[in-house]
Amino acid sequence: MKDFRMRGIESKDGIVKLFGERIVFVPPNIISLLGQIYGEGSKPLLKYLGKKMGRRLIENWEEHVRPNNLEELTTLFLDMISATGWGLFTAEEISEERVIINLKNNVSQEEGSFSKDICFFLSGLLTGFGDFSLYNVKVEELDCSIVDPDSDVCRFLIEKREVEL
Ligand SMILES: [Zn+2]
Repeated sequence: MKDFRMRGIESKDGIVKLFGERIVFVPPNIISLLGQIYGEGSKPLLKYLGKKMGRRLIENWEEHVRPNNLEELTTLFLDMISATGWGLFTAEEISEERVIINLKNNVSQEEGSFSKDICFFLSGLLTGFGDFSLYNVKVEELDCSIVDPDSDVCRFLIEKREVEL
């Protein structure tokens, strides 16, 4: 894997800026905590939060880095979110209809909670990315390393929704 330095990041006196805009990284234990507080109701909440964040990040990065095509845009997004510590994201398939993402070393494994809360948040994050890059998508987690001991990745399908006319 290439050595990746996060572009556009400045950090000084407790203020982190990404391309000039102040940001805050969401620690995974906050997500687990939200999951515990909201219990069964946490799934839509975490997906919603992830989606908002994913959309905002990809819009900002796209504007500053100006990738030339979907493959570059996807690589940019995956490299950036891998660099922020969620785990190692790689694309298995990239097309205008669907993108399949594998996530190794999901940070949830470190938490030791075996909870899906972070997977829900990351599904949301990828929905925000997909809505921007493929327009109106649904995201499904096909395999999950948190609940399935035989799987060493969480595998997400980002699929374009059929538009009803
Ligand atoms: Zn998972």
